[in-house]
Amino acid sequence: MDFSLKGLSTSPKDREDSSEEAVKVLILGSGPAGLSAALYAARAELEPVVLTGMALGGQVALTHAVENYPGFPDGIGGMEMVELFQKQAERFGARLEFDTAIEVDLSERPFVVGTQNGVRYLADTLIITTGASARSLNVPGESELTGRGVSYCGTCDGWFFKDKDVVVVGGGDSALEEGVFLTRFASSVTIVHRRDELRAGAILENRARSNPKVNFIWNTVVEEINGNGAVESVKLRNVETGDESLHPIDGVFIFIGHTPNTKLFKGQLEMDERGYIVIDDYMQTSVPGVYAAGEVADSHFRQVITSAGMGAAAAIQAGHFLDEQDIVE
Ligand SMILES: Cc1cc2nc3c(=O)[nH]c(=O)nc-3n(C[C@H](O)[C@H](O)[C@H](O)COP(=O)(O)OP(=O)(O)OC[C@H]3O[C@@H](n4cnc5c(N)ncnc54)[C@H](O)[C@@H]3O)c2cc1C
Repeated sequence: MDFSLKGLSTSPKDREDSSEEAVKVLILGSGPAGLSAALYAARAELEPVVLTGMALGGQVALTHAVENYPGFPDGIGGMEMVELFQKQAERFGARLEFDTAIEVDLSERPFVVGTQNGVRYLADTLIITTGASARSLNVPGESELTGRGVSYCGTCDGWFFKDKDVVVVGGGDSALEEGVFLTRFASSVTIVHRRDELRAGAILENRARSNPKVNFIWNTVVEEINGNGAVESVKLRNVETGDESLHPIDGVFIFIGHTPNTKLFKGQLEMDERGYIVIDDYMQTSVPGVYAAGEVADSHFRQVITSAGMGAAAAIQAGHFLDEQDIVE
């Protein structure tokens, strides 16, 4: 594979400085799965290196408060949680590099990972925790108000919307499942869907339709999310008539799908039809010595605690693998 550093954003001087480094455990991603893997690998004295990617801390760093992670009875800020995860992993010798993997070769060991900063890692084991990205609407106000009324996770944020009115965007299974879940807290849940029929299964549809707190707005898209520091309203447009209207609202939950960050591994690791990495019960991918953990391999649970647990499990298995190969002195 050609690692001639094509298309990098580094200067010619940086390219001359590009280096090669052998590591026992290389972790791609610094979300809950990556930092938990780093903690476990570091405590096993495997001197892991973590490539943080563009988003130190991953998705959880985007949220203001996490209230469902044990050990924090009063909740904890997302960024604060990431700082604690990082500090704990570093205390035992994990090294974080603010760098992104741009090329991988998993055809033989050591696995080769080329980075944005021009480093070429030769890794005895690889733990992939590159996460998944919730698809966004890409409308004005959405990114500014994320965590301030705009959410991509009902389980995480539903509680904050007690006796409030919320909009759910989407028409698939997760939109309906999350929409019905949100009725435990919200006084009303309005499902806004761009078509006049749902993609969700019949049972979910019946459950949503028979819930007195759930309303539907059909053939309609969200054009804008408005608010000053918190969501106040959404601008809707009917795709058939073109009519626009403003709806006062407290929250907007967006469930239009997730995309796993797995492009880099296409053709080298087994993936399901949606692009999630296929793993066994031991976080093992289709290539021995390559593990995957967290949302990159889990489209179902999508939580900090489940991702962290998978990261820990992957690091334990990486240690066993190295033992079996006699790589750990
Ligand atoms: C707004 C919001 C609020 C949430 N609130 C909660 C909550 O309250 N409670 C809860 O349990 N869950 C919550 N979640 C879900 C939770 O954040 C995720 O389940 C969790 O972060 C997934 O962890 P992960 O490590 O698998 O992946 P991610 O957090 O997605 O991290 C992926 C990491 O991979 C890195 N990366 C990507 N590509 C590369 C590459 N090529 N090279 C190197 N690194 C790369 C990224 O920079 C990032 O560091 C929330 C999610 C969001 C979006």
